[in-house]
Amino acid sequence: MTKYVFVTGGVVSGLGKGITASSLALLLKSRGYKVFMQKFDPYINVDPGTMNPIQHGEVFVTKDGCETDLDLGHYERFIDEELNYTSNITSGKIYSSVIEKERRGDYLGATVQMVPHITNEIKNKVYEAGTTSSSDIVITEIGGTVGDIESQSFLEALRQIQYELGKENTFFVHTTLIPYIYGSGELKTKPTQNSVKDLRNLGITPNALVCRAPFSLSENIKDKLSMFCSIPKENVIEAIDVKNIYQIPLNFYEQKIDENILKQFNLPIKKAEIKYWEDLVKTVNELKEETEIALVGKYVELHDAYLSVSESLKHAGYKYKNKININWVDSELLEKENVNLKEIFKNTKGILVPGGFGSRGIDGKIKAIEYARVNNIPFLGICLGMQLATIEFARNVCNIKEANSTEFDSLCKEPIIDLMADQKSITNMGGTLRLGNYECKIKKDTLAYQDYKQENILERHRHRYEFNNKYKEILEKNGIVFSGINEKANLIEIIEYPKLKHFIACQFHPEFKSRPTRPHPLFDSFVKASIDNK
Ligand code: GLN
Repeated sequence: MTKYVFVTGGVVSGLGKGITASSLALLLKSRGYKVFMQKFDPYINVDPGTMNPIQHGEVFVTKDGCETDLDLGHYERFIDEELNYTSNITSGKIYSSVIEKERRGDYLGATVQMVPHITNEIKNKVYEAGTTSSSDIVITEIGGTVGDIESQSFLEALRQIQYELGKENTFFVHTTLIPYIYGSGELKTKPTQNSVKDLRNLGITPNALVCRAPFSLSENIKDKLSMFCSIPKENVIEAIDVKNIYQIPLNFYEQKIDENILKQFNLPIKKAEIKYWEDLVKTVNELKEETEIALVGKYVELHDAYLSVSESLKHAGYKYKNKININWVDSELLEKENVNLKEIFKNTKGILVPGGFGSRGIDGKIKAIEYARVNNIPFLGICLGMQLATIEFARNVCNIKEANSTEFDSLCKEPIIDLMADQKSITNMGGTLRLGNYECKIKKDTLAYQDYKQENILERHRHRYEFNNKYKEILEKNGIVFSGINEKANLIEIIEYPKLKHFIACQFHPEFKSRPTRPHPLFDSFVKASIDNK
């Protein structure tokens, strides 16, 4: 029978619940258990696909095409499992499904209510994650902070699960903040006590506390937290601020939280295989060289908007013992008249243009691509980055001056990038992009083949527009190689320009499949080329 771990948060948001949940999952997996992860987001949007990345950060895409919260990226990177549609549930999803059932007549006769209809739907999502993944342990993180109006129905559902399944099948981890008061020089436990009280008022008794603190908790503070929160002292876990997030599972491991969870579940405590993770942490802590790579985007003021991309760059850096410093370049700044590109890219060894939507900042990105091409700087374009690379090449090399995407100019004369045929009739914005895994066939004797070392790959997508095959011949004549193609739909997936040291771009998002111990092949070779470009 599947066991369930729930991770809630108190006091303030942004405590790192996602990393806490991922770290617990990593430890339990390393002890030989099959672990699956899930996040509940109490907002009303059906998914974060239509949200502004500046507010919400990146949209992470699962292999089955779900647009999800960026915490799922942490989950996949920590536990190295591909998640799916059961892994990110929002209030929007819950409400739409309940309302659909009501319209269909599933509840005929009943008044449809928060309890039991909404809460049952939530409970089903928890159980569904367990049964469909046939895992031993499911870890569910509840977004937001205990006390938020939006999360009440989720917590009520979890209370019912705790009651239904009992202590040996459920474990609640509450993440809180232990603030430090300058002057009196004390760590304070009261906000945590109050937050646990809030949780208990909702009928949930947490089994462990993960206390985010600037430094180690004294025995005295742990005693106090244990006593006032009715939590065994060995389950009062400290989460001290770290420089490197990969350290966190090891810090938890030392405090035996995973063992305590397994004990409560009556599951055997098998030996933890975490040597590979210790090696990773050691590598990250001992990086000797540094390499600067420019990331040119329009949401750069919030680095989380490009979380998986920046993580992927770092992963590849680890492989070559290099610390990758990202030069965050706001593409709109590049559009200013007297901009000095040489100055901006002074220390930059590689240029990356990631995905994006809408026309703001487009000209700046095209300028950056031109700069990379003309100066033979290693370049990686992702999704929009690939589309713009073909536009830049068409305009400046093939002399098709009016080359553009119909996303920015619906009536443009030379639509190098155009809406995909099956997108033309779509009117709803949410969930209607080309999403998730699609096949790609790699052409031999290309940079892409050198990277992947195989002909058939699967990569995750999130876009509405595509390269217009009408322009394939002219670009090819001028030196572009179309090295990756989706044969079923005849869509261009990878382009490269072999005349240069390293110039490659893809229509899909490789960043979703990179792992700290296994960088994605396209990031691997791009970062290697940037490191070598010295
Ligand atoms: N806006 C482009 C499209 O919809 C690119 C999307 C992206 O970069 N994810 O096709």
